[in-house]
Amino acid sequence: MEILKGIPVSPGVYIGEAFLSEGEDVRIPMRTVAPEAVAAEVKRFEDACLKVSSDLDTLRGVTESQLGSNIAGILSVQTQLLRDPSLRQKINVRISEQKHTAEYAVAKTLRELAKLMGSSANQLIKERSSDIVDLEKRVLAELLGEHKEDLAHLKRPVALIAHDLGPSQTAALDRTKVKAFATDVGGRTSHTSILARALQIPAVVGLETISADITGGETIIIDGNRGIVILRPDERTLARYRKLQAEFEDFERKLIQDKDLPAVTRDGVEVRVMANIEFPEEVGDAIEKYSAAGVGLFRTEFLYLKSGVMPSEQDHYEAYRWTLQRLGGRPLVIRTFDLGADKIDPAYAISEHNPFLGLRSIRVSMKRPENFRLQVRAILRASALGKVRLLLPMISCVEELRWARGVVEEIKAELLESKTSFDERIEVGIMIEVPAAAMQIRTLARECDFLSIGTNDLIQYTLAVDRGNEHVAHLFTPSHPAILALVSMVVEAGREANVPVAMCGEMAGDPIYVPLLVGMGLTELSVTPKLVPEVKTIVRAAPLETFRALAGEAMKMVEVAEIADFLREKLDELLPPGSKFGGMG
Ligand code: PEP
Ligand code: MG
Repeated sequence: MEILKGIPVSPGVYIGEAFLSEGEDVRIPMRTVAPEAVAAEVKRFEDACLKVSSDLDTLRGVTESQLGSNIAGILSVQTQLLRDPSLRQKINVRISEQKHTAEYAVAKTLRELAKLMGSSANQLIKERSSDIVDLEKRVLAELLGEHKEDLAHLKRPVALIAHDLGPSQTAALDRTKVKAFATDVGGRTSHTSILARALQIPAVVGLETISADITGGETIIIDGNRGIVILRPDERTLARYRKLQAEFEDFERKLIQDKDLPAVTRDGVEVRVMANIEFPEEVGDAIEKYSAAGVGLFRTEFLYLKSGVMPSEQDHYEAYRWTLQRLGGRPLVIRTFDLGADKIDPAYAISEHNPFLGLRSIRVSMKRPENFRLQVRAILRASALGKVRLLLPMISCVEELRWARGVVEEIKAELLESKTSFDERIEVGIMIEVPAAAMQIRTLARECDFLSIGTNDLIQYTLAVDRGNEHVAHLFTPSHPAILALVSMVVEAGREANVPVAMCGEMAGDPIYVPLLVGMGLTELSVTPKLVPEVKTIVRAAPLETFRALAGEAMKMVEVAEIADFLREKLDELLPPGSKFGGMG
């Protein structure tokens, strides 16, 4: 049994089989063979070794003539390893004594060795560990031949384990098979983590080495509440986690019981608790199961990322029409494409040194306006069917807002001309996720109809902390006084300009910040659907005055930890401990 600690990004507990993502590895289930089949299994392994070693010899000859002896030397190391009698002996013992299949014995032995070498203080030995990984792949490919299992053909539920998962890969996951995931890299507000919450599957990221620590087919526990992953759990641990799993499901049921109670403070001030969605299909649960007041952020770029095909105007329109139908008169905030940075199909990514500071979001729309124009047209047409608001992402200066509003006006004129109906008073809002926009908020607020604070990017750009980087995940926090100051500035400017201010970043759904945000004066919070009932419960826990006093106190503090501890304590006073999902701290 081995316990790893990572970053919890999507709640729930998974207990079951691990599946290594393609690209990392082939899946090797832990299987045994009958005693009478052991001799044949040993022979299979020996034959595979012979074949791989002869392939390596051939390859080395070719490599040497083309690339020189240094590069070819790397292959000799693998051949030597393969011919090493003690290594072969170890694998043979596993097959003959433990009755493991040849594949499992190879994967297990070579992975243990790679891990041991990888953690060596000697740089030379450390570097050799990648030779072992490579060798493992060669021998397994030989043993498995055509029998490699891939995710697309799996028939049973698994937890997906990968070094990294991009948002487009995550969006395409089949939820009937992938019941949880765990990755080496990532942060709490990376788009992949946001998608895990949208898919409602437990997930832990930033585990650093999990893709090398586990062999496919082994049993794994993924605790998305605490960020713990347990490899090869023993019986006692399994029993304990089965209990925790049942308790968590019970807790979720209890939260849902109160879902229809209104989101008003104890003295009757309403806070609209809305849902963030990435796929139209999420709207059903958001409204019926979690009782959201509407959709406060539709990340439409996933219409493209999930299918890999750029949607036509009609595709956009149909998605919005479908969503509005299910919303039954509740509001829908449609954000125009926020493509670029990590939200791009890797095959189409342009080469940029700093993609998050590069051609992203509204900048892509300005560079290639065709897709923006057709999306705006679809949004305007959909506005005839329900309460639609149009939201522009990543605005950093007034020129971008003016450009986008100009396009909206042009398309309105075209629609009038062609007698196509739309809401002539459709509200156009902007996301505040770049510090420059927060600094210029008074000007921007005068030129738009609503503001929505995107803290995921606002934190990343203000604190200079990559939201998807596990190495600096501890520095990514809404509790920084600079973040509190920027949020407060935006709320203040909205009040002055009489423009509503919402928050749709992950901070809005993190329980410890809800009292602070309500106290600061935010009246709309848009969160992952599953978190809606809990956020509503917190809003109901005290009168506005209590929240205001708490916000006032927090705003005077100067240290991150001081603010986070204070907010955690206050939340515990408002809600009984043990009755909430984990926050990001
Ligand atoms: C944000 O940045 O807070 C936000 C809501 O946008 P996204 O997470 O899609 O970048
Ligand atoms: Mg953003």
